[in-house]
Amino acid sequence: MGNDFLPERVYVLTVDLNAIQQNWLTLSASSLASVAGVIKADAYGLGARQVGCALYAVGCRTFFLASVEEAVTARDFLPADAAIYVLGGLRNVDIFELFARNLIPMLCSAYDVEQWLKFKSSAQVNAVAGLKINTGMTRFGLDERDFSLLCTDESRLKAINPELLISHLACADEANHLQNNIQLNRFLKSLEQIKRMLPAVRASLANSSGIFLGKEWHFDLLRPGAALYGINPTPLDKNPMLSVVRLALPILQVRSLSASEFIGYGATANLPTGARVAVVAGGYADGVHRTLGAQPEGMLLGQRVKVIGRISMDSMIFDISHIAASDEELMQASVEVIGDDYSINHLMKTHKTLGYEVLTSLGSRYKRHYLPGAL
Ligand SMILES: *Cc1c(COP(=O)(O)O)cnc(C)c1O
Repeated sequence: MGNDFLPERVYVLTVDLNAIQQNWLTLSASSLASVAGVIKADAYGLGARQVGCALYAVGCRTFFLASVEEAVTARDFLPADAAIYVLGGLRNVDIFELFARNLIPMLCSAYDVEQWLKFKSSAQVNAVAGLKINTGMTRFGLDERDFSLLCTDESRLKAINPELLISHLACADEANHLQNNIQLNRFLKSLEQIKRMLPAVRASLANSSGIFLGKEWHFDLLRPGAALYGINPTPLDKNPMLSVVRLALPILQVRSLSASEFIGYGATANLPTGARVAVVAGGYADGVHRTLGAQPEGMLLGQRVKVIGRISMDSMIFDISHIAASDEELMQASVEVIGDDYSINHLMKTHKTLGYEVLTSLGSRYKRHYLPGAL
């Protein structure tokens, strides 16, 4: 066997790029605003390159990434007319490199504004930035006081050259939460302030769920991430988005019990004589615990099956006593733990995990398989 031996990996996470494109087009059709694509954290674990290129192909021209590292990578695979914003602030960032690569920083604090102005005065370039303000999440963003001060200083404001004002909603997935209106009103007030000096500034407030709060939250640019990837932006209602991800775990071994037996580490569960179990690829090293909950369920040949006993590092055991298939058939089959029947949104409901966490903790051992989208 040569060094080039590359075994087929058995963990396959299927990502439907066409569904991602359809989701973007659905959001686009629902609003007069432009629609960006948030592809930070490797497009929520699904592959920033594949997802970014698929979104570009259907017309997306604005992208948000969390760090400079991510943005530099994105610059390599996205065409030059794609605007790439970096959300994470300017700490430890070589601003000249950022500018040279045509990446746009979101200035998030008084510190960022200072760094940016220093850069602009030393480099003497006509670079643009985005400004992020805090309206009630108290994470990133200029405070109201700093922002108001800035808006009274025309020369500083013009030196920053901000073309986009954004803020981020803390409770958009709870449509009736008071915080949504509070944040909207603060954002409107700040937008009015900055527009007095810079009437051309564009505005963006809504993440995925924010889009569904209503048109008042839309402004010029929508910033969906989760909804593009099939996570329900309206958790109390039917999911308006197409599901994107399928995870099927192959059966590695089938066994029938000739006596009552304990199952798995710690002998925490047992099954009676005649029961049948399937040992399936995927364990806590693959993030299964966090992503699927401690007791994953799935679909096997059209029927529900449940994990029995503790999850191991690389495998878990399903009770398949009620499945009437031969061992040979089962050795060709997989347990679908995320898919049409077992969606991420179902997991959110039953295990109280966030769809975001489900996606981003799907381990690197899964091979991503892409169903192509439109080119
Ligand atoms: C992550 C992020 C988004 C996308 O949020 P979703 O809820 O995934 O749609 C939008 N804007 C900012 C600033 C973000 O950090």
